[in-house]
Amino acid sequence: MHEVVLHLGSNMENREQYLEKGIALLDMYVGKIIRNSSIYETAAWGVTDQADFLNQAIILKSGLKPHQILEKIQAIETLLDKKTAFRWGPRTLDIDIIFIDQIVIDHKDLQVPHPRLHQRKFVLASLEEIIPNWNHPVLNQSIRELLNICKDQSKVIKRT
Ligand code: AMP
Repeated sequence: MHEVVLHLGSNMENREQYLEKGIALLDMYVGKIIRNSSIYETAAWGVTDQADFLNQAIILKSGLKPHQILEKIQAIETLLDKKTAFRWGPRTLDIDIIFIDQIVIDHKDLQVPHPRLHQRKFVLASLEEIIPNWNHPVLNQSIRELLNICKDQSKVIKRT
């Protein structure tokens, strides 16, 4: 079994409902969810002229292989009507694979750990809530350490 850390984001239509449905489908088709973070309201990154995102991080246990996890995630995004006009543009639901155990994958379709996670405060903040001491297997630093040195100043507000 793999311990898989995923990060979800939505900034279109009913954002809470997309997160909720995405998590229910992940639990059904990828593996049992062990923990989820709070929901965070965050400013869009990259293409900033668009609605704020809601983000959430989860950990699940899965018996699937890494590429099978990617396939299931993409099927769930499609099922939830993923719409992306352009790279980093608005989307109904985006699911990123952040970590799979301490495995490192550098394949054209799948890079794990997610290659940009350490640059993004909106990813690190939700991860810090559930896995502060998780080691990044390439950078060899914990999530807490990465958040402390992250230069990203964009808005990240934890919802209560
Ligand atoms: P995006 O729509 O921006 O999330 O990009 C999705 C694309 O990123 C897909 O074609 C995946 O094959 C690729 N990809 C590479 N690494 C990852 C990862 N760790 N998690 C999710 N998608 C990934």
